[in-house]
Amino acid sequence: MNYTIVYRAENSYEANFIKGILRVYSIESKLLGDNLSIAVGELPVDAMQVDILVENTNLVKTKKILRDYKNNLTNKKLKDRNCINCNELIPSSFEKCWNCGTQ
Ligand SMILES: [Zn+2]
Repeated sequence: MNYTIVYRAENSYEANFIKGILRVYSIESKLLGDNLSIAVGELPVDAMQVDILVENTNLVKTKKILRDYKNNLTNKKLKDRNCINCNELIPSSFEKCWNCGTQ
């Protein structure tokens, strides 16, 4: 079976979370680098990222699931915030500041 990297997780926690999501859809995944950070000890943040691999036969399906996952993640992060430039309150539905256009 050929495996392809479909996602690079920030850390082992997120990687295992995604592995769990994929399992719900009957997709088995492999994690690359998951045990590395534990074995080596303290590493730069980059080195703690975990690649998630799935079989090529599940590639299309997995990408769709991950796209939905990332969309949900982005939606949750959006809240009302204050503009870093002019300090106006920007509602979560706006990508840019309605007042000055700063992102
Ligand atoms: Zn602004």
